Amino acid sequence: MGKENWAIETRTIQGGWEPKSGEPRVLPICQSTTYKYDTVEEVAQLFDLEAPGHMYSRISNPTCEAFENKMASLEGGVGALATSAGQTASTVAILNVASSGDHFIAVGALYGGTVSLFTNTFKKLGVEVTLVDADLSLDELKACFKENTKAVFGETIANPAMDVLDFDKFSTLAKDMKVPLIIDNTFGTPYLCQPLKLGADIVIHSATKYIDGHATSVGGIIVDGGTFDWTNGKFPEFTEPDESYHGVVYTKNFGNMAYIVKARVQWIRDLGSYMSPMNAFLSNLGLETLHVRMDRHCENALKLAEYLEAHPKVGWVNYPGLKSHKHFEMGKKYLKGYSGVLSFGVKDGAEAGETVMNSLELAAIVVHVADVRTCVLHPARMTHRQLTDEELINAGVTPDLIRVSVGLENIDDIISDFDQALAKI
Ligand SMILES: *Cc1c(COP(=O)(O)O)cnc(C)c1O
Repeated sequence: MGKENWAIETRTIQGGWEPKSGEPRVLPICQSTTYKYDTVEEVAQLFDLEAPGHMYSRISNPTCEAFENKMASLEGGVGALATSAGQTASTVAILNVASSGDHFIAVGALYGGTVSLFTNTFKKLGVEVTLVDADLSLDELKACFKENTKAVFGETIANPAMDVLDFDKFSTLAKDMKVPLIIDNTFGTPYLCQPLKLGADIVIHSATKYIDGHATSVGGIIVDGGTFDWTNGKFPEFTEPDESYHGVVYTKNFGNMAYIVKARVQWIRDLGSYMSPMNAFLSNLGLETLHVRMDRHCENALKLAEYLEAHPKVGWVNYPGLKSHKHFEMGKKYLKGYSGVLSFGVKDGAEAGETVMNSLELAAIVVHVADVRTCVLHPARMTHRQLTDEELINAGVTPDLIRVSVGLENIDDIISDFDQALAKI
C-alpha cells in the first residue's frame, strides 16, 4: 500500500518529513535565515518564482515546509502555508481574496479575536464584513451578498459557542455565489473533521491549539483545497499580472496552487509573519499524537459534560456531544468527535461562577484552550472582553459562560476538581 493511501493516523506521524537514507529520522530544525546557492542565476530564478527552493526564511523554510506538507496531507489540500499565529492565518486567508473596497460574510459565532480582526482592523483596511446568524435560510444568506462579496467564513465548531457549522448549507451558498468558503477548523482538527471534503475551499487553523496540543507555540496554518475556480471573473488579482513579480499570473503559472502561492509570495513576503522553524518543529512534534489525544479529549469532555449536566447547581451545559444539544445530529453528520471544549453556567450566575473558577485546583485559569492540561476561562471578561454586547450575543457568549478546555488528565480527577469547586457555592 502506497503512502498516498496511508490512513490519517499514519500520516499524522509519518507525513511531511520524508528522510532519505542517512538523514535524521526526526524532522530537523533548520534554524537558518538563508540558503546558499552556487550561481547568481539560480537565485534570480527563485526571485522570479521560476524555480522551487528556499531563499529566505521570511518566505519559506525546510522545517516549516515539512509541517506545511503534513497539514496539507491531513486536510486533503494541495498546499499549505505556516504563519506566525492563527490570527495571521485568518488575516491572510481573507486579504488574499478581498482588498480595500471588498466585502465578505462570516458566521457570527466566532472566536473573539477573529471578531475584533474582522470588525475593527479590517474596517481600517477598507474590507467590510457582515456577521450573519448561522440559522438564516439559504435564501436569506444569499440576500446578505453584495456585488463586492468575496468570501464566506465560518468555524467548524465555534469557539466558545460550540455551534457546529452546517457545511451543506454554507458550501452550497459559497458555490452558488461563486466565492470561496474559508473554514477555521481549529476546534475540529483534521482528525475530527476535514472541511475540504465537506465543500470548503480553504482551511485555516490556530496551530496554537490542538495541533501543537501542549501549549508551547503560537502558530497558524492555511491549507488550500486547490479546487476553487479563481478564473470566474471575481478575482482579477489571480488572473492578471502581478507587477511585483515581473508579471506573474497566479492561475497561469501555478494552476491549482494559485491561492497558496499568492498568499506566500505576496502577503507573507510583505508582512513577514511566517512561522519560525522552532515553532514548526514543536507544532509538528505535537501534531504527531493528534489522533490519540483527540480521542481522549472527546471522551473526557463528554464525561465532564454529563457530570455537569446532572449537577444540581449547574444551570446549563453546552457541549455538542450531549444528546440534548441542538447540534448533536449536525455534529454526527460532519464530525468524528465533538472536541474537548465545553461551556457551562452555574444557576447562581456569573459571580458564583467566578467562585467556582477560583476554587479549581487541577483546572487552571489560563488564556488558552485545547492543550493537554484542563483549563478554564471566562470569555466575557477575558478573550471576548473587547466585544460589544451585541457581538457577545452573536458570538454566543453570555455573562455567566465558563469555558472549559478538558485536558488529558484522569477524568475522575477532573470531575472531583469540579465537584469540590461547585461545593464552594
Ligand atoms: C485561538 C484561536 C484563533 C487565533 O489563533 P492564535 O494562534 O491565538 O493567533 C483563531 N480561531 C480560533 C477558533 C481560535 O481558537
